[in-house]
Amino acid sequence: MILNLLIILTILGFVFNQVLEYINYRSSKGPLPDDLADVYQADKYSEFISYKSSAYRFNLVTTVFSLILTLFLLWIGFGLLDAWVNEITDSQIIRGLLFFGILAASSEIVTMPFDIYETFVLEQKYGFNTTTWKTYLSDKLKSYFLAAFLGGGLLIFLFWLILSLEKNFWWLAWLGITSFSLFFAYFYSSLIVPIFNKQTPLGPGSLHDKLTSLSKTADFPLNDIFIIDGSKRSTRANAYFSGFGRKRRIVLYDTLLNQLNTDEIASVLAHEIGHYKLKHIQFGIVAGSIQTALLLFIFSLVLDNSLIYNVFGSAEGNLHIALIVYAILYNPVSAILSVLMNMLSQKFEYEADEFSARLVPGINLISGLKKLSAANLSNLTPHQLYVLFHHAHPTLKQRMDRILSVKY
Ligand SMILES: [Zn+2]
Repeated sequence: MILNLLIILTILGFVFNQVLEYINYRSSKGPLPDDLADVYQADKYSEFISYKSSAYRFNLVTTVFSLILTLFLLWIGFGLLDAWVNEITDSQIIRGLLFFGILAASSEIVTMPFDIYETFVLEQKYGFNTTTWKTYLSDKLKSYFLAAFLGGGLLIFLFWLILSLEKNFWWLAWLGITSFSLFFAYFYSSLIVPIFNKQTPLGPGSLHDKLTSLSKTADFPLNDIFIIDGSKRSTRANAYFSGFGRKRRIVLYDTLLNQLNTDEIASVLAHEIGHYKLKHIQFGIVAGSIQTALLLFIFSLVLDNSLIYNVFGSAEGNLHIALIVYAILYNPVSAILSVLMNMLSQKFEYEADEFSARLVPGINLISGLKKLSAANLSNLTPHQLYVLFHHAHPTLKQRMDRILSVKY
């Protein structure tokens, strides 16, 4: 019975996502509002249309493939793997590590061709890719180590708590995971980012001079502004704020500095300072930890229900089976939560935009956002439902309207 439910949830999830992708793809073809007409020049617009249709077809192929893979796992794969790990050892923790380790490794192997195609064919064709094979492979190796270390550590911690405390595990697990995410958010720029990228302080020069007065007015130290070598992998540009307290940091991609003029860069910087001043990172951590509490608490409620252990003919009490079944059952809840998180994040983006438009002329932020949209071949008219489910940022049009409503 539960197996049928899992299959139905998987198929419904696939259909729902494909409908969203389709209506969003249709919507990307316009018509454009008048004030967005200048974003794409004629030749760039045809490139955008071609890119969107390639990306849409690629996404369709990968999601159909992943649907087939999930159904195979549900019907045969999980059962076989479970039987095998049960033979190897009696330890729940080692069973769990083997079960999820083998799943992760095999899913990585079968999806790798798609990933390579995306980076070296699709992104390459539209001029986004700057990754060399050497960078690509070393990124992969590093992320495997990170995933094994973090994922493995989390699994050992979680299973150990469940084995010792049973249903009461959830609040200690929540405390542990929340403390870890605080640590992670605090040290993100100094521990994780350097594994993949170089960050250099903003050196002297015209940009430095231009930003000095802005940073004084906004009371944000120039020392906490760093340039990152994003151009090592892609031409796509970005900027973000990370950390809090003494580890606060604004990071600007070198690609952003190439694409925008100093006035536009200043307005992007003001937007990031807005995220800092309005404590968006802290609110994000609180929202994330509420989600973690919910996830763990519901898990504790279903933990002693024999139905979730018997799905693949497994022996009673196998925690890895309970976890994988719960993960699939939880999918609809997590989709709803991600809508709420997107709404929160979009609210933060509006607030940061408003902050920027009060500090420097909003028109600079608008022209910067337009340039970035064109350079990224962004969908200027995404479907509202798609935005709700997938976008952390409001649409360009929505942001423009909001920015223009602010008095400088
Ligand atoms: Zn932002």
